[in-house]
Order: sequence, then C-alpha cells, then structure tokens
Amino acid sequence: MNEHIIRSTGNAIASVTRGNGRVAIVNYHRVLAAPSPFLASEPDIDIFTWQMELLARCFNVLSLREALAAIDSGRVPPRAVCITFDDGYRSVHDLALPVLRRLGLPATVFVSSGYVDGRNMWNDRIVEAVETLPAEELDLAEFGLGVYSLRSVDDRAATLGSLTEASKYLPPQERSRLVGRLQTLVGERASEGLMLTPEMVVNLDRHGIEIGAHTVTHPILTSLDDASAMQEIRDSKRELEAIVGKPVTLFAYPNGKVGKDFDHRHVAMVREAGFQAAFTTAVGAITRHHDRYQLPRSRPWDETPMRFALRLLQWLARG
Ligand SMILES: [Zn+2]
Repeated sequence: MNEHIIRSTGNAIASVTRGNGRVAIVNYHRVLAAPSPFLASEPDIDIFTWQMELLARCFNVLSLREALAAIDSGRVPPRAVCITFDDGYRSVHDLALPVLRRLGLPATVFVSSGYVDGRNMWNDRIVEAVETLPAEELDLAEFGLGVYSLRSVDDRAATLGSLTEASKYLPPQERSRLVGRLQTLVGERASEGLMLTPEMVVNLDRHGIEIGAHTVTHPILTSLDDASAMQEIRDSKRELEAIVGKPVTLFAYPNGKVGKDFDHRHVAMVREAGFQAAFTTAVGAITRHHDRYQLPRSRPWDETPMRFALRLLQWLARG
C-alpha cells in the first residue's frame, strides 16, 4: 500500500474544502482477542492494531474536543480523524488502550453507565445463548420471533444477526423477558464481566481517553416515553461524572440512526441535560454545517488497509 498516495489524496481533499474543514469519526464497539464468527463486524486485536498504525502514519488523529475546536476556529488539519468506542466494553481498556498509548492516539469512549456493575448488555446475552446452546434450534414463537436454526456455525451466526436486529426494537420489557428466557436456557455461566468496571473507566480517563455518556441501559430512545428518555440521558451523565470526578459533556445516541433510534425530542433533551455535543451513526465526516447535537460517525468495517484508508478519504471528500 502506498501511504504517500493516501496522504497526498487527503491533502488534496483538504485544499479543495479549505475553510470548511472536515473530520471523519470512526466508531468501534469491542476489540476481540481473537476473530469470532459470531462477531464478524468487530475487529480483532490484529486488525485494530494495523488500523491504528495506519491512522497514526497517514492521518491526523484528534480528540473530539480538539476536532470541535478546530472546526469552530476554521483550522482543521488535513486528514483529520477521531476515534470513538461505544457502550463501554472492557476490551477498550484491556486491548485497545495499550495500542492507543503506544501510538499516542486520543480517543473517546461512550459508556452506558448501567453496566459498570459487572452485568452484560442484552445483546451480549443473546450472543452467549446463540454461541453456546447445545440445541439444534431455538423456538421463540412465544415472543413473536419464530424458530431459529442452531445447526451449524453459519446457521448460528445468521440466527445471531437476525435475532439481535429483531430484539433491538422490541419494547424494553418484552426484550428483558426474552433475554431472561435465554439466560434460563443457558444457565449460570462464568462469562460475566464483558464491560468496563468503574476503576477501568477512571484509568481510561487518566490516560487521556475521554469518557462520554451513552444512556444508562442503552435503550432505543424512541421506544421510551419522554420522562424515561430524559432520565436515561441525565442519569448517565450524573453517574459517569461521579466516577471520573469531572464534567461529562459528550453524548452518543444508542444505536444512533437519525429519526429511527432518536428524534428531535431527544436532541433537545441532550442539549437541556448540559451536553455540548452529541453523535449519531450516520455516514460521513463532520463539518461546521452540522448540528452540534447530530454529528455523524461510522463503523470502519473494511478488511484491507487500502480500503480502510479509502473509506475515510471518501467520507472526508463527501463531508
Ligand atoms: Zn451503543
């Protein structure tokens, strides 16, 4: 791969867009110790490492705070990129932090504050069930979800994808009932502890990784009444501030699809709660023309360095 081409293309994009600087924000969740057929969209540590090395060599990695200040002052460097992680997985601390520190890269972690007590998120309980249940199929007709095959690894991976999507939009109580049912089927296991502990959150903050909020329990905000949504937004800020001992001013919407997972009511709530900026999962780079409370970020899923770099350049070119 020719890194010179990446840098010169990035510089050319920056000179065309002069005065209207753009920043591409990459959005991760977990980093895996080893590849998993059940979590194909999450990078393993090898992929994550080359992605970070490429960012360090070919792009200008800024913290979100630096990026927003640069956009305000009209002085965004060329090839500007920010790194973010959602949900608050322990692997951000155990696997990603050493790589980020070695390369001197800033990042932000948006933590769902209700899981720092050692519980796993509902989607990970589904992963565990689909990965480990010995049965040939999973009958969820009573939840209106049909029967899913568990016959092969491929079947299980397909089941995991469709079951996760279907569960995302169940009413929270229905989803809790489903997850409770899966837990009963799986039984007690020792796989708790996928998420950051309060001590790890503090340690990330001490090493220059900014902590942002991501609600308490990671609901789809549009599935809640307004009072509950406001409580999720406010309480996550308060709980994280109590852990890190400083203001938490950045927010990311759970799931993040504009108009589907949150709407104008939640944008107003985030502003009212005292956050200074909020992030979606829309595709593209941020510019000074974006609403500060609906800034796009995307997951970089490309498997080769050239494609990964081209995708970032494409976001920067498109704005
Ligand atoms: Zn999330």
